[in-house]
Amino acid sequence: MQPVHFKSASYSQPELETAVWALMDTCGGRIISAGDRVLIKPNFLLPARPESGILTHPGIVAAACKYVLQRGGAALVADSPAAGTFSRIVKKGGFARALEGQDVELRPFRETVSVDIGEPFGKIALAREALEADAVINLAKLKTHSQMLLTLGVKNLFGCVVGMEKPQWHLRSGIDRDRFARLLVQIHYAVCPTLTLVDGVVSLEGDGPGKGGQPRHTGVLLGGRDAAAVDAAVCRMLRLDPDRLATHRAAAARGLITGREDIRGDFKTVADFKLPEQGAVAFGPEFLKGFIRSHVLQKPVVDPRRCRSCGECWTFCPAAAVVESGRAVAFDYGRCIRCYCCVEVCPHGALAAKMPPVGRLVEKIRALRKGARQCPH
Ligand code: SF4
Ligand code: SF4
Repeated sequence: MQPVHFKSASYSQPELETAVWALMDTCGGRIISAGDRVLIKPNFLLPARPESGILTHPGIVAAACKYVLQRGGAALVADSPAAGTFSRIVKKGGFARALEGQDVELRPFRETVSVDIGEPFGKIALAREALEADAVINLAKLKTHSQMLLTLGVKNLFGCVVGMEKPQWHLRSGIDRDRFARLLVQIHYAVCPTLTLVDGVVSLEGDGPGKGGQPRHTGVLLGGRDAAAVDAAVCRMLRLDPDRLATHRAAAARGLITGREDIRGDFKTVADFKLPEQGAVAFGPEFLKGFIRSHVLQKPVVDPRRCRSCGECWTFCPAAAVVESGRAVAFDYGRCIRCYCCVEVCPHGALAAKMPPVGRLVEKIRALRKGARQCPH
């Protein structure tokens, strides 16, 4: 059983620093030694303000850096953002200010190393800084995710796939959510973080993980050595069966879940956390495929009033399924692999993953057949 520690917290200093340090001591023991090169890997998805609930809070990143420096380590804060520039994230997200005066390197990943993450994927280029660090501190954010339901500790390491390689790996995984989850799990275990901490002080609910989500105060930090156990503990907090997370199922299928996680500290459940709609990504006979993809399956849709034709979505779409169309965008649903990278990167919150009315009915029938699974805790 993997211990997962919860600590009630707010973003006010110096309480935040005390909470982060206490959690790191409790979860990790002596994780940093003098001279260690430590990678701190936050969630730097795109330029967003700290109060948006989209990025790991700058106060948490600053506290983790200070912790490393106090123990004689060298801290590098790095990520590979999905959209926008690293420098814009650092400025808008308040990281430059939060880290002022600390001897810390703050930059995007620069180099990659090809590593074999195992079947069926084989070799993948991952950030050298992550693979060669003496310790990796994984600072994830508690957010919803249109494709994967939630993005937490395991998925945060997908940021170690650098730049436009990310959409390429989405494309290679295709429409199969479970296959993508397996990829995430295998990347996570290749990077093998020393410690995973999740920022759930202000979380993101609704149509996350980008600007389509809404911040929600949940008032907690949590962490542990095993990111899969940390993610499962977040599910318990949100009253969800962890098996609803595709990454949890993928880790379990590889024998990486060793019993139920051991939850300690200030654990409290959160009622009515708004999750994104999710349904099957493929079913039905071949001759109905086109109809099902357009009218039954969940799909990305645009709110034309919010679209600014900025081009982020069609630049990032791995399947070339977004088409510029006058004042907004249009989709080729036959090509679309439902990765929701477009929803993730839209800087104006103009995109969301929506289930058409027929699809909603089909999902209700499927759920009734299976019997709804709700975590009792
Ligand atoms: S949908 Fe969003 S990302 Fe795409 S062009 Fe419009 S504003 Fe830009
Ligand atoms: S349109 Fe959006 S969801 Fe579909 S493949 Fe492109 S990025 Fe992914």
